[in-house]
Parts: sequence; C-alpha cells; structure tokens
Amino acid sequence: RIAYVNGQYVNLRDAAVNVEDRGYQFADGIYEVCEIIGGKMVDFPRHIARMQRSLRELRIAEAMPLTSLKVVMQEVIRRNRINYGIVYLQISRGVAHRDHGFPSPDVKPSVVVTAKSLNFAKNQATAAKGVKVITTAENRWPRVDIKTVGLLPNVLARQEARDKGAYEAWYVDADGFVTEGASCNAWIVTKDGKVVTRTAVSGILAGITRAVLIEVLASMQLKLEERNFTPAEAYDAAEAFVSSASQIVMPVINIDGKPIGDGKPGGIATRLRQEFHKFAAIS
Ligand code: PLP
Repeated sequence: RIAYVNGQYVNLRDAAVNVEDRGYQFADGIYEVCEIIGGKMVDFPRHIARMQRSLRELRIAEAMPLTSLKVVMQEVIRRNRINYGIVYLQISRGVAHRDHGFPSPDVKPSVVVTAKSLNFAKNQATAAKGVKVITTAENRWPRVDIKTVGLLPNVLARQEARDKGAYEAWYVDADGFVTEGASCNAWIVTKDGKVVTRTAVSGILAGITRAVLIEVLASMQLKLEERNFTPAEAYDAAEAFVSSASQIVMPVINIDGKPIGDGKPGGIATRLRQEFHKFAAIS
C-alpha cells in the first residue's frame, strides 16, 4: 500500500512523520475521511470545505492548493487500486521543537494521505442485520465541530461499546440529550414518521453524510426535525440509525440493550441507505 507524506508517495510500511510533528505530540491537526465508490471520491467538495473550516478555526495554514490536494488524493486512490473504501487526509500544524504555543516563525503544515479498501459485501451484510449502540456520558471538549485528530475520548467510547458487545457509543450531554456517536451522527425516526437528528449548532460535528441525508429526506418527502432527543425517546423510537462517510447509513436495532422498533433495521433507514449515492457528488 502507498501513502502520501509531505510531497512524496511512499510505501505505507515506510511512511512516517517526524517525532516532533505537532499532530503526534499535541493532536494539533485535523483530518477528513471520504468514501470511495468506483475509485472516485464521494462529496469531495463538501469534505474540502469542512477541512478548510477546521484549518481556519485552528489557524493552521493551507498546506497546498486545493486542486493539488485533490490530485494527490486521487493519486493515492489510484496507486492503491481502491474501488470501494475510504481515503484519509490529515493535516497537522507541522514540525517544531515541542512548545505548546504555535511555532514562530510559522512552519509548513504536514500533509498525509492514506487510503484503504473496505469490504462492500460485508458492510451491506452488517447493515442488513443492523447494529447495537450504547450510550455514554459526553466527555469531549466543546469544539467537536472541528474535525481534529484529538480523538482520545472517541477511542475510549468506541472501546467501551466494543467491551459491551456493541458497535458504537452515543454520547449523552449534561442536559441528558444525545449528541452523536464516537465517529458518526445519531438519528431516530419517531413512531409518526419524523426523522430526528440534533442541530449542528452545538455538540456535534456537522457530518457531510448528515447534510446530504437532509437533502435525500426532502426529496423523499420525509419530515425532518433538527432538535435534541434523549436516550429515552430513542428507546421508544420506531427506528434509529447512524451516518458517516465510511458507513453512510447504518441501521441501529438496539440501544443500551433495548430493541428499537421491531428489533430489525427500519424501513426509512434502509431506503436512505439505498438512495444516498444518487444525491452524493462523485469525483
Ligand atoms: N461525528 C463524528 C464525531 C465523526 O467522527 C464523524 C465522522 O467520522 C461524523 C460525525 C460523521 O461525519 P461525516 O458524515 O462527514 O463522515
């Protein structure tokens, strides 16, 4: 497998950043993940727009022109012969002697791109069965709207889910509302058919998949409610699902040990999963 690291395509085995990279020492960096379908990126323009926002929020310079970045990502996909999978982009503030404040003068941001194949049939089989989630107390910083590589709380939440035999953990904030999953946005469908997800105003990363799904919902004439919901409302929902670039729509059939609806993937989640790529921009 081939990775791109700071201007070079290298064997993944040998791909490395400096030990004083601020991404490594301070999690001082951001990332994006795009789905790859038929060797092409899904919703690249939206992912790049979010990347630019993350960089702006952290005052990290743009490492290279966007057109070059796109070429690099496409090249990593091509060199790894990925048909279906994900491409990962990470940009850190760069390499400097360890000091919490920003390096002065500025250093060049580090850019890393990797890609991997995913097993389409396996993902479809998982979606056909549905997955279990648990809830856990929100313990992340308030700026989860920035897609930073500081993911330790997410790592621990995912592991807690695994330890409990679940696929994902949903965070619950201090007011008792679900924010999102460790690496996905959280959704429920009420018994009267309304599709509910938290607003992107606070507490969540504004998922690209979430944004596209909102358009899919409108086209399917389904009612959307962007509002907070509690675990109790979710237990009692007709359906639940999660969304992310790597999973698109994954039906949730059980939350904290309680079956959702009839305990099978919901009809709306399943239809959204089928319709999604008709609305996604493929490049
Ligand atoms: N929320 C978190 C915390 C995530 O890590 C992710 C994606 O990995 C998402 C939401 C979903 O975002 P997207 O649909 O852009 O992949």
